[in-house]
Amino acid sequence: MIIGRVNPNRTLETQGISGVGSVYYNLIEPALVEQALQRKEGTLGRGGALLCQTGQFTGRSPKDKFVVRTASVENTIWWENNAPMAPEAFAQLKADMLEHVKGRELFVQDLYAGADATHRVDVRMVTELAWHGLFIRHLLRRPSAEELQSFEPEWTIINVPSFKADPAKHGCRTDTVIALNFDEKTVLIGNTAYAGENKKSVFTILNYLLPEKGVMAMHCSANHAIGKPEDAAVFFGLSGTGKTTLSAAPDRTLIGDDEHGWSERGIFNFEGGCYAKTIDLSPEAEPEIYATTHRFGTVVENMVYDADTLELDFANRSLTENTRCAYPLDAISNASDTGLGGHPKHVVMLTCDAFGVLPPIARLSPAQAMYHFLSGFTSKAAGTERGITEPQPTFSTCFGAPFMPRRPEVYGKLLQEKILEQGASCWLVNTGWTGGAYGTGKRMPIKATRALLSAALDGSLDGVEFRKDPNFGFEVPVALPGVDAQLLNPRETWEDQAAYDAQARKLIDMFTKNFGQYLPFIDEDVKAAAIG
Ligand code: ATP
Ligand code: MN
Repeated sequence: MIIGRVNPNRTLETQGISGVGSVYYNLIEPALVEQALQRKEGTLGRGGALLCQTGQFTGRSPKDKFVVRTASVENTIWWENNAPMAPEAFAQLKADMLEHVKGRELFVQDLYAGADATHRVDVRMVTELAWHGLFIRHLLRRPSAEELQSFEPEWTIINVPSFKADPAKHGCRTDTVIALNFDEKTVLIGNTAYAGENKKSVFTILNYLLPEKGVMAMHCSANHAIGKPEDAAVFFGLSGTGKTTLSAAPDRTLIGDDEHGWSERGIFNFEGGCYAKTIDLSPEAEPEIYATTHRFGTVVENMVYDADTLELDFANRSLTENTRCAYPLDAISNASDTGLGGHPKHVVMLTCDAFGVLPPIARLSPAQAMYHFLSGFTSKAAGTERGITEPQPTFSTCFGAPFMPRRPEVYGKLLQEKILEQGASCWLVNTGWTGGAYGTGKRMPIKATRALLSAALDGSLDGVEFRKDPNFGFEVPVALPGVDAQLLNPRETWEDQAAYDAQARKLIDMFTKNFGQYLPFIDEDVKAAAIG
């Protein structure tokens, strides 16, 4: 049975999905909340948020993600980074998944990915869980009622957490699978309920399609000066580096918190909502994000709450450190309603350096920016795994290797061209440790990071004196009114400066070792910017 609103010529039946139970098409938020509650998929929280738990998987499963290896993508996919799946295995997986959903009820959301109509992709998300429907409806961009009537799904993503894949039959690694097929424009997701897989599948698709049109696809947040969309900034960074936190700045208009394109006209959000971390979320430092956790329809994922009072426990890590909330952009008061901005005047690269070596902000030449973009350095703090006492450095190219189907140089060259064409200023910002490494020092105060970023973005930092960093070659401001000057020189924040120097050498060695893989593919000026 068809329930809801859908283009009558594009029901699931017309896509070869038949024999299923009732299909709920494009339900709006309250209806999805009602369905989720009826099915006991979650609990209604304070203020009307939907509190959900994902079970076994509380984060992405990058090792279980596959790209179907067909002739048309054979020479364009970066196979060292994307596990291949044979077309026959995918066909079997699809047949078995469609067999599995026979008789089951499904939710369909027809949505746009891309605020710029010329570059957007029209995605149909088919989910087993009502709350996944609500999640992706928040995260992507919603067509009008009229547009829905003629909606043509270009891509179809089918997400069935109750389906277990079989490695012997389906060419996968475990019973969890995320399989992308660029020929069939289909993604199949099985045996994981982590909601982030939905949005990052869409991101991976766009990261493949856009570079072909000369559009740069970026794992970054974005904002612009209030009332001046032409005065835009982007913030690249791996998970936990501060994209979501820092893009929601009180003195700027939020464009988006995670995925953007940079076309010939400027930047555009792929999404229409945000997916923020909630662990230790402070109502003082991040009031707007905090407020969304008590708002009708927000999806709150894997947070522990009091059974009687429904009070959320922001410090509780018992289900996961990766607790999240998902909400539409209009839940943030100073968010853009177009999702568009001009060519970025500032390109910021965020890193969370748990070694405590990198300065809180540094100005980069375009070649240095390319070096840091290809390196994609951050560190995961120790503590969650037994026996790990050292910070865990990671290099994830383009600040998002798991979502990059093409070779890193493709994205690197596009970004470099655009930075040079537009004369954008480039910055490296360390939101990680200061005063020592993890264990000795402390995390950079959000207030200091915000003050330095504000000064960089409004131009006031241009007027101050800079020093050249002897280790990394970039320029670091010496002082800025309102910011503790000592903070600007990390070496000075360490009690034992010889220990700082040793730590800096260690970090440089890691950078150098990692960067070797890109040397055959890059220009001389970027080679010259290579440190060490
Ligand atoms: P993801 O890609 O997983 O969404 P993200 O880059 O959006 O990650 P955030 O959600 O912004 O990362 O997470 C940054 C976390 O670090 C937040 O919990 C924030 O409170 C905390 N934090 C602490 N100090 C700082 C700082 N100086 N700047 C930014 N964030 C900080
Ligand atoms: Mn984020």
